[in-house]
Amino acid sequence: MARRVTVEISGATLKECPLRDLPDQGHLLRCLDILERTWKQERSPSMHFDDDPLDSLVRTVLSQNTNDTNRDRAYENLRRRFRDWKDILGAETKEIAEAIKSAGLSNIKAGRIRKILETVETTFGVLSLDKMKEWDNSKARRFLQELPGVGPKTAACVLLFDLHMPAFPVDTHVARVSRRVGWVPNRATPETIQVCLEQIIPPNRYLGAHLNLISHGKNICRARKPECHRCPIADLCLTGKENLAS
Ligand code: SF4
Repeated sequence: MARRVTVEISGATLKECPLRDLPDQGHLLRCLDILERTWKQERSPSMHFDDDPLDSLVRTVLSQNTNDTNRDRAYENLRRRFRDWKDILGAETKEIAEAIKSAGLSNIKAGRIRKILETVETTFGVLSLDKMKEWDNSKARRFLQELPGVGPKTAACVLLFDLHMPAFPVDTHVARVSRRVGWVPNRATPETIQVCLEQIIPPNRYLGAHLNLISHGKNICRARKPECHRCPIADLCLTGKENLAS
């Protein structure tokens, strides 16, 4: 069961998983196969963006600590109030904050958006991240994670969905299912889980597996009350076996 490896993905050497034992790959893949038969997102993913990655990056910054509805409302309002990214860059931070207030933490998020736009313009000469599509995975990941307010999950979302590069974002649903099934200890942080799962899951399955785990977390393995009695991976899940035995 114990295994420590460092793998290469598209020229990017990933960080070594900080856990002493990596999840058992055979067990994890069996679970992913069952989740794919249940949610089918490897065959037909419900999310696939082709926008400029900058649009998605700003949307992801807005999504922090709020739900999808508030994020979408804030993003639409921002794009309606300002002509383009240049117009936003020229605005006062408080005007940006006013436009995105439905997403919460609006002053902080407005400051981050301004700083991101400034960095993008300085780096690329235009307010677009399209040129990143020519970069390799590690360069793109490093650049994104150095932007204000962009952590491993946000960077992984932009890499996976917009740049079509291998990355495995771990949100609250993916983290919860991973801990309950027993792939990682309960104390493992989302960042640690991301590093470990990127080493175990084949990169060509990242997108669908990520979406299947989110569907599973939203619909069956819910935060408050997991429905273990109707879960298709209950036989393989540590928490499920405990819950069904009690
Ligand atoms: S068996 Fe229960 S705890 Fe385990 S994944 Fe399924 S719903 Fe979640």
